[in-house]
Parts: sequence; structure tokens; C-alpha cells
Amino acid sequence: MPKLCKAGQQLREQIDDAFPDRSRTSPEGWLGDQRHAARKSDHNPTAEGIVRAIDINANLQTNPAEAFDLADQLRLLARTDKRISYIIFNSKIASWKKNYKWRKYTGINPHKTHIHISFTAKGDRDGSMFEVPILTGEPLNGTSKASKRKLGREAF
Ligand SMILES: [Zn+2]
Repeated sequence: MPKLCKAGQQLREQIDDAFPDRSRTSPEGWLGDQRHAARKSDHNPTAEGIVRAIDINANLQTNPAEAFDLADQLRLLARTDKRISYIIFNSKIASWKKNYKWRKYTGINPHKTHIHISFTAKGDRDGSMFEVPILTGEPLNGTSKASKRKLGREAF
């Protein structure tokens, strides 16, 4: 029986806690369907039966901008939290290439209504807290969101 990696379980739980009314219906999930199985996807279980990806419905039942904030904060965290492999949202992808700057995503599904998060093998067993301000209420790396914004991307 395939299992979602510990990091994926933890992140989904934190998102559930922060947005209790959010929509958990499709496009939401983790285990790949038949179509996924036919191609390379982190939604397909590894040989050990671990799935290293989640899809989060972008309808958080709150200000629509918060889905963008969530995706962006995960992107910034990925620079230091090596459990996150890449993020896709709204026709953009951020990965280790270009040090997690948003780049144009040209896949068939533009991911306008869900956020895709892929995890590394490091996340298979590491279910510790994701230090994302929108989820924890704590500022990122000890500084306020506002100061980070002022500093701009060079600061990261
Ligand atoms: Zn996905």
C-alpha cells in the first residue's frame, strides 16, 4: 500500500490547520492515477512505496491571494529546507535550478487551481515542522515578512 512521505503528511496537516475551511476536493491529492503511472511523476510511488508529491487545492476559502502567498513562501523555504524539491503553481515552477526563482512552467497542466509540491528523499521520514510564516504565524528565519519584502530577492 503506497504511503505519502512524512514531509507531505506534515505539510498537508499544517495547511489544513491554517485553512480549516479550505476545499479538499479535486484538484487535491497525492497518489497518482493511471495517467500519472504512464509517465514520470512524483505522484507515483517509489520502489519503497513512498509518494513524494502533494496537490493542494488553491481554493483555501479565504482571500485568493493567500494561495499565492503560500506557494511563494514554500518557494523561499525550499532554499533552506531540503525536503522540498520543487513547486508548481499558476504556470510557474521553482526548483533548485535558478535557486528557486519562479520560472515559466510549460507543462500541459498550467496548475492554475492547485499547488503541486514535490519532496526529496530527505522528506521520506522527516516530518518536522515547515517554517512557513503563513502556516506558523512566525516570521521566516526570524525576520518579518515586511522586511523580507523590502530587502528583495537578493537578500535570500
Ligand atoms: Zn501534482
